[in-house]
Amino acid sequence: MSLLQIVRVALDVPLRSFFDYRVAEGERLSPADIGHRVRVPFGQRQKIGIIVELPGTSDFPLAQLKLIDTVLRDLPPLPADWFRLTEFCAAYYHAPLGQVMLSTLPASLRSTAPVKARAPRQALVLPAAEHAPALTFEQEASLSAIWGNGSGFHAYLLHGVTGSGKTEVYLRLIERTLAAGRQSLLLVPEINLTPQLEARVAARFPAAGLVSLHSELGDAARSRNWRSALTGSARIVLGTRLAVFTPLPELGLIVVDEEHDPSFKQQDGIRYSARDLAVFRARERGLPIVLGSATPSLESWANANGAGGRYQLLALRERAVDGARLPTVQRVDTRVDKTQDGLSGALLAAIEKRLARAEQSLLFLNRRGYAPVLACAACGWTSRCHRCAANLVLHLADHCLRCHHCGFAARVPKACPTCGNQDLSAFGRGTQRLETVLAERFPQARILRVDRDAASSRKQWEALATRIYRGEADILVGTQMLAKGHDFPNITLVGVIAPDAALFAADWRAPERLFAQLMQVAGRAGRAERSGEVLIQTQFPEHPLYAALVGHDYRAFAAAQLSEREQAGFPPFTHQAMLRCEAPRMADALDFLTCARACPPPDCAAEVTFYDPVPMRLSRRASLERGQLLVESPSRRALQRFLAQWIAEIEAIKSPSRLRWHLEVDPLEF
Ligand code: ADP
Ligand code: ZN
Ligand code: ZN
Repeated sequence: MSLLQIVRVALDVPLRSFFDYRVAEGERLSPADIGHRVRVPFGQRQKIGIIVELPGTSDFPLAQLKLIDTVLRDLPPLPADWFRLTEFCAAYYHAPLGQVMLSTLPASLRSTAPVKARAPRQALVLPAAEHAPALTFEQEASLSAIWGNGSGFHAYLLHGVTGSGKTEVYLRLIERTLAAGRQSLLLVPEINLTPQLEARVAARFPAAGLVSLHSELGDAARSRNWRSALTGSARIVLGTRLAVFTPLPELGLIVVDEEHDPSFKQQDGIRYSARDLAVFRARERGLPIVLGSATPSLESWANANGAGGRYQLLALRERAVDGARLPTVQRVDTRVDKTQDGLSGALLAAIEKRLARAEQSLLFLNRRGYAPVLACAACGWTSRCHRCAANLVLHLADHCLRCHHCGFAARVPKACPTCGNQDLSAFGRGTQRLETVLAERFPQARILRVDRDAASSRKQWEALATRIYRGEADILVGTQMLAKGHDFPNITLVGVIAPDAALFAADWRAPERLFAQLMQVAGRAGRAERSGEVLIQTQFPEHPLYAALVGHDYRAFAAAQLSEREQAGFPPFTHQAMLRCEAPRMADALDFLTCARACPPPDCAAEVTFYDPVPMRLSRRASLERGQLLVESPSRRALQRFLAQWIAEIEAIKSPSRLRWHLEVDPLEF
């Protein structure tokens, strides 16, 4: 009997179970093989899986078990805490564990195709060694608060205004961690933010084998960087959300920069929050974790201020560079100072002044394209996407109508498709139109547009950023892409073009996002010696959100928002999950959700509240109708217990074949 050894394997399949195999006679695996990859037969093909257990027995007759092919021992086995992290992720987000595990590996490590010849390691351009500045009083205080707590799990919320030197605090923490012989994991929201930070970290720690992990890396590079994290040769890992899963056997510190940023939340597949998983990982391994932001998420803020005091709050209220002040923020009341082509007199005058002084202006308009819709005044035709419940956006730069939801694109029609009228009009304003208007107003100025159309890859973005640094542009027009974390020392004016819509959006998180965006973009002004000015064009200058911005008062804004949410019973005062469904017909989608609503597991349904199944706000996308069903509970644990049972009921519902559904825990978008 003991001759037959069973191997339990995690595979990338949408099933909530592992798969048992046998080991060929004469071969024997040891517990040290747990965490190695293994090649196994699966159906007609072979698959790469991960050995999760060497169980004594199987639920299946041994004779039915297939033999494993090869154990791949080319890498150290995945460490135990990596298993706990992926297990937690699968349990919390109710995703199949095998899929979670395999999806976190670089593609070449989970494919049976022979690994391509390794790309030669790029010669590392060693940046000039960076010299550490003397800490400010506040930086010093934050660090001593952290050192004072010693090792072990502690979560810190580092709330520092833009330019207050949060990064310097991270670097000092990393320095200590390196000295203690441990690895550091530094998470950032966007790839676009990595080059600057990468250069800075590499300059400070040239011998630490810094690697980055993000979606724009080719597979060879990603796999190489991942390996060096696992083998321990990389002492610092800098990455975007997926990097939270990097196996780091000697991890000693986690930092999540710009922790409020929605891009830490994965929006398809396994919908996890990298920030929340990072906190779990730190707790589970007994490590310090620092969440940093100028505008923390309200969830984190509540955790740092609530009675529970789950996070320790550390504050940096002043800019780090001597003499650098926060910009002055002013509201331009566009009911009085009427805009022409989107620009108020006050803003035009301010731009003029910057041009005369050879300083840069940044105009923030968070809508790309030329105009949000093209329409015919004669018959009422509007450019609609035939696959989505949305308008096609006019892009004049390449003469297209584009759907920003499904990617559909068509040439701009020469005449109205319905009545033949040749005089179609563009309604509203996007970055391209603003660029055109500015070019007419300021013919001598060099204008640069920075949005996802102008900078779709990291390379293009870096090229644009370089031109901005070199002063090759006078006026920048940009979306939130320009708002985040960059130091452009010559920008002294930020104009916010049309922010009001978000004040009254149906999504109750919209004000939080708007405030963060405006605070970030305002932070671009006057980073160096020259002080900055921010002008917000609004028809609602009395709105408390703008008042808080004028006062740089995140705390007041957060307190007001949190009390509103408490009264309304919104997160973080309740916990939510969203069941979403897509089908060719809305009736099918809603029927499915109605069935799901009717089958709550008996013993825990009392702890959750069901809302009604409703069409999503974007009710149709890529030819599929979309519905959603919200459930919530005052207790996270009760919600989790409920979801675990409910999902089994949902899986049993018979539904039309073209219907797809998913469950999202802690949804951010509605
Ligand atoms: P944040 O991440 O909070 O926006 P950074 O860490 O990027 O801020 O710091 C903003 C600027 O201040 C950078 O140019 C940085 O080099 C500088 N800086 C940070 N700490 C200090 C310090 N203690 N003394 C002088 N300059 C500093
Ligand atoms: Zn018409
Ligand atoms: Zn579309």
